[in-house]
Amino acid sequence: MSLPAVDTLSATLKNTFGYASFRPLQREIMEETLAGRDVLALLPTGGGKSLCYQLPAIVRAGLTVVISPLIALMKDQVDSLLQNGVKAAYLNSSLTDDESKDTWRQLFRGEIKVLYLSPERLLVEGMLDTLEQLKLEFVAVDEAHCISSWGHDFRPEYRALKAVRARFPHVPMLGLTASATERVRHDIVEMLELKNPRTFVASFNRPNLSYRIVPRLSPIKQILEILEGYRDESGIIYCLSRARTESVAADLVKKGINAEAYHAGLPAEERNRRQERFVKDETQVMVATIAFGMGIDKPDVRFVIHHDLPKNIESYYQETGRAGRDGLPSECVMLYTSSDAAKLRVFIDQLTDPLEREISSRQLSRLLQFAEGSECRRVSLLNYFGEVYKDESGEPALVCGACDNCLTPRQEVDATEVAQKLISCVLRIKKHSGFSVGLNHIVDVLLGAQVEKIKKWGHDTLSTYGAGKGKTKAEWLYFARELVTAGLLSINHDHFNVVDVTSEGLTALKDKRTIRLRAPLGTSGLSVDKRKEQRRHLGAVDFDEEIFTKLRSWRAGVAREKGIPAYMVFSDATLQAVASKKPRRYSDLRGVSGIGEKKLELYGEAIIELLEST
Ligand code: ADP
Ligand code: ZN
Repeated sequence: MSLPAVDTLSATLKNTFGYASFRPLQREIMEETLAGRDVLALLPTGGGKSLCYQLPAIVRAGLTVVISPLIALMKDQVDSLLQNGVKAAYLNSSLTDDESKDTWRQLFRGEIKVLYLSPERLLVEGMLDTLEQLKLEFVAVDEAHCISSWGHDFRPEYRALKAVRARFPHVPMLGLTASATERVRHDIVEMLELKNPRTFVASFNRPNLSYRIVPRLSPIKQILEILEGYRDESGIIYCLSRARTESVAADLVKKGINAEAYHAGLPAEERNRRQERFVKDETQVMVATIAFGMGIDKPDVRFVIHHDLPKNIESYYQETGRAGRDGLPSECVMLYTSSDAAKLRVFIDQLTDPLEREISSRQLSRLLQFAEGSECRRVSLLNYFGEVYKDESGEPALVCGACDNCLTPRQEVDATEVAQKLISCVLRIKKHSGFSVGLNHIVDVLLGAQVEKIKKWGHDTLSTYGAGKGKTKAEWLYFARELVTAGLLSINHDHFNVVDVTSEGLTALKDKRTIRLRAPLGTSGLSVDKRKEQRRHLGAVDFDEEIFTKLRSWRAGVAREKGIPAYMVFSDATLQAVASKKPRRYSDLRGVSGIGEKKLELYGEAIIELLEST
């Protein structure tokens, strides 16, 4: 097919979706697929993957098929497209016979531009023949990493896609994913049989997200403090266990927060109901295990709190990534305690597969390094994924200005005495018993704890027993780990994580060297000024709060009436733009991001009326 004029893409972006500009790589990806080539696109969550196939689908004459793994998401996407006046439909097991028939009729009349299919559907007899009759022109494979057994979300049904390729060798294919290691990327290309695909890899930086890690002291109180900044706005709190989700949710409800728990132990129907309530803003805060998130596209999640330590840095990135897909400033806070790390360590030590143990252990170390570290969070996250952070001007940078470590850099403190106590405690225990012990035991000795093993091994007779009562256990563990990082102590991960003093540590103790370590994570929240500074870095715009609130409640009414989530009517970003520009005339609304022709027609007058009355 012939390539549409470049302006067709921009015009459709504006008219149909109401957006003024493309997100990074969107245009390149669209042009490449429209030129008939296979493409693999790696964009972060919120990068705007859907548009990469939806917009070309509108421009194309024939049918675009989108393969998607989650039934809930298909419905969501189709509803969103219909709101923008794009003819879309889906076929999956959730439809009744009548609904399916109706969709088929529309398909055969050539009324549908975008058809969402589950991979299983492709294998239904006659499906491929039918697609041929329907003039299939383009296939987009969403969540393409599902095809790889190396990915974190392997779905064997995805292998059915091979049949599509075999049947339609000349129909261009687009594979999309937000997560792909080299290995998975290779698998996608191979399994989809992409032909000389061009691969587009966007930056994985999420410029509108802020990262903050604070010590977990009294979690409910801390969560309530964070929530104060978000009256009616959505957020997710991730917990490690099902029981914890229940108890945190219950505690929050007691404090008047509209919260609910979500975990895999709930019956599927109940899970769906809760998810739906969250998506429709009937529940403000979802307290969930990691079972929650994959199936939601809710773009206006304003905060993600980790009550417990995530599994590793990848998981942390994925989970925090569910905040702020709409591009508005959003916040990620982790409540951190080294005892979580200790628990994970015990769990890892019990893994029977040596390779798995090794990998998990390394991942945990990296995670702790990240969590306790004083480097810019953004720089260090991206660095983990092999990317150099670049600021708005495109220059490599070492600070983002919006994370806790950038906003409130941590001081170094004189830790000479602390270090001496720790090092000599390790030495005395070894001298006394002839073997080394783990961090917990060392700290227990310093604290003078009444622990069975201490008595059994006679460690309560050591001069260091009880010598560290001035500090909490968490503080001792923190400094001990810092000494490991500094190379004065070492942990033997292959042997029960026992701790030894390195030769450098010995010298430091002998020479009474001054030792400076970074102070532990600050306990205070961000000051008002710091918060303002942060929002500026995250690209916040000024808007009229009162109008925004009015628009939101108007939107809630419309959404309820139509039975769709509020964000499908308009995103927060769009409402903020309206509350910032305060257009007076109907036609001025055309200039607002997120208002396409269809939505203008549907809601334009109501908005102008609402603005006039304020
Ligand atoms: P992903 O699937 O990559 O996580 P989505 O396709 O869900 O991202 O897009 C995230 C949000 O960004 C959606 O609300 C979408 O409408 C919006 N969006 C996508 N492209 C643009 C753009 N060019 N300008 C403004 N908003 C966009
Ligand atoms: Zn930073």
